[in-house]
Amino acid sequence: MPGQAQVRLETATAFCPCYRMAQITGRDIVDLFRLIALRLSEGRSELGALDGAIGDADHGNSMAEGFSAVVRATSAMTNAAPFELLMVAGRSFLSAVGATTGPLYASAMLAAGRDLEGKVTLEPADVVRLVPAFARGIAERGKARPGDKTMMDAWGPAARAATDALNAGLAPARCLSLAETAAREGCDATRAMVASIGRAARLGARSLGHVDPGAASAVIVIAALHEWLADHEAATAEGSG
Ligand SMILES: [Mg+2]
Repeated sequence: MPGQAQVRLETATAFCPCYRMAQITGRDIVDLFRLIALRLSEGRSELGALDGAIGDADHGNSMAEGFSAVVRATSAMTNAAPFELLMVAGRSFLSAVGATTGPLYASAMLAAGRDLEGKVTLEPADVVRLVPAFARGIAERGKARPGDKTMMDAWGPAARAATDALNAGLAPARCLSLAETAAREGCDATRAMVASIGRAARLGARSLGHVDPGAASAVIVIAALHEWLADHEAATAEGSG
């Protein structure tokens, strides 16, 4: 027979699984970085081939090595707050990646870190808000407009979808599912765009028919955020049942 205190605790967690879900710590954020790095490493040659068609073929390496550097820099920081990890991640990505992508993702992670400054733990909705924060950091640094055939053509629609879904009160993992779908659609749409900034702009109309590699890697990052949060929610729901 369970004691009375235990019954009360079980009743409380049964009615409010969000109590456990709310606890996203620095350690969880390092896990999230690991998953992003893994998925980018799996996509390395495909991203390289996409970039080879309209650029210098380095995009797969840049993204995979950038996020490996993020994991190396943060993996020992188990007691750091999420915002501190995002700041370190931004700086380590920038040191590891010289090309255009370096400053863009550095700005993304620094923008997200500034938004979360002072928070020791995050709630699932904060993970959803990483998408609009990343998009804002990238837009401020890169100045790309919609239709320029850049990573913003995936990040922009994903950010709007994430924000709209949060405002509509949808569950956080569902918000990221919708963001992922919007990113995929935005990425597919870059096939019909002519590059007007970045290295691919030199190709002019010859960039038509090719997906933008930056938009393709944005899909991988956003899909990894979704995968991680869905797993986290499943694990915490099990733990509280
Ligand atoms: Mg390149």
